[in-house]
Amino acid sequence: MPESTTKTATKYLNFIDGEWVPAKSGDFFENRNPAHANQVIGLFPKGGKADVEAAVGAARSAFDAWRKTPAPVRGEILKRVGDLLLERKETIARDMTREMGKVLAETRGDVQEGIDTAYYAMGEGRRLFGETVPSELPNKFAMVVREPLGVAGIITPWNFPLAIPTWKIFPALLAGNTIVFKPASDVPLTANHFVEALVDGGVPPKVVNLVHGGGGEVGNAIVEHRDVPVVSFTGSTAVGRGLAERCGRALKRLSLELGGKNAQIVMDDADLDLALDGALWGAFGTTGQRCTATSRLILHEAIHDRFVDRLVERAERLVLGDGLDPKSQVGPLVNEKQLEAVAQYVEIGRAGGARLACGGGRATAGALAEGWFFEPTVFVGVTPSMRIAREEIFGPVLSVLRVKDLDEAIAMLNDTDYGLSSSLYTRDVNAAFRAMRDIQAGITYINGPTIGAEAHLPFGGVKETGNGHREGGWTAYEIFTEQKTIYVDYSGRLQRAQIDNR
Ligand code: NAD
Repeated sequence: MPESTTKTATKYLNFIDGEWVPAKSGDFFENRNPAHANQVIGLFPKGGKADVEAAVGAARSAFDAWRKTPAPVRGEILKRVGDLLLERKETIARDMTREMGKVLAETRGDVQEGIDTAYYAMGEGRRLFGETVPSELPNKFAMVVREPLGVAGIITPWNFPLAIPTWKIFPALLAGNTIVFKPASDVPLTANHFVEALVDGGVPPKVVNLVHGGGGEVGNAIVEHRDVPVVSFTGSTAVGRGLAERCGRALKRLSLELGGKNAQIVMDDADLDLALDGALWGAFGTTGQRCTATSRLILHEAIHDRFVDRLVERAERLVLGDGLDPKSQVGPLVNEKQLEAVAQYVEIGRAGGARLACGGGRATAGALAEGWFFEPTVFVGVTPSMRIAREEIFGPVLSVLRVKDLDEAIAMLNDTDYGLSSSLYTRDVNAAFRAMRDIQAGITYINGPTIGAEAHLPFGGVKETGNGHREGGWTAYEIFTEQKTIYVDYSGRLQRAQIDNR
């Protein structure tokens, strides 16, 4: 890939009202490669309120025809979109690695999750179940049908640049909604690939609108728009809380998928090789930048020391590098701000009394100096009250805590404001079932790491990780549909419920 600069870089566009167009401001922002920070991948339009206004207007005008398109036909279109994502998988994965850093195996997985979600949506086009319920009155029929809401606002983060938008956009479209999509500014190229696949696959122009730009401008304008009745957001708890306040005032439906502080417990009877593989993948996969990343490792005291020794030895051997290089196991952090935030948490950990067992600094050997690389980092001697045990770090930093038994481990795992993912390694089936009952989280893995969601199962968390909705599988369709209750009285006379039949 030739180096490009701001002057020579390709200019990309928004997709509004069926056309690829620049932002009304005429301004662009840079998209840079986090593995080689001097490499500009492209320039993307800096959208604002006026662009959102046009996008919502287009989506609104397309709604009536799209909602009346039979759901199985909408499903067939999404199947074609899935086929195109499959055909373009390698190109999209490579561009995703270039713009946000994760290694190719992971960006291929990210695209695959989008393909899986498309094929699931096709099936749902022939289901989208309502219900029939007996009426309490004779000669009367009662049923519940699902209907779309209208224009759906979709706001997404940078860590799963294709998978997360597809989790939201495929169910929203299948259910008959139209879309205004604002991707994170670190991953605009993947968003363009996705919208191209939607359009090429046959989603009618105007049904999908893409507006690039900052959260404060574009995101805010979507949330505030009176013609957007439903917003689906994945991102930080701080931003999500603000959205909840604004959507609450406007009585809009809002689905939130927010932060995590996920823990893996390893008991003294566990398969330690398996638990070690899980901890390394959970903590350092995606450079720790997953909402489900393992951020706390809770070890039984009987295996603590030997587990930590092996963990540190393996963490130090992980190969950092450009995600396009097949030898790389851990890519860079997404941008300089994220690098600074992670470095600051290492200082907070040290100052709080935790001991650094490995890592702790920016990695700068050779070509790594060109990017935002950070050493896989393990803290030991962490106690539950320390900030590194409580706050989401979103980087390759693992805090190790020590416990004496399962009860203490579960209590420690639950001692957090978040509740997304969780994991327990044990060979004791009784312990596993107690943990499945007592862990407070949206997702629990037994003998697997905290990461590994599959597209057809509900995904989401409890406590400050969200507001009770679930993406993935059939549950995503609940976010994007209203229920309408319909009574058909074929008795030919007035029948008064609760009165005439008593
Ligand atoms: P972020 O909250 O900074 O941004 C998310 C999106 O919101 C971006 O598109 C951003 O531009 C937009 N945004 C920012 N301010 C806004 C505002 N005021 N109004 C409307 N939109 C606004 O999060 P991020 O840094 O992109 O992603 C990392 C965070 O996302 C982490 O906290 C992580 O845990 C979380 N996350 C959660 C899940 C999940 O499913 N629970 C999945 C992935 C990431």
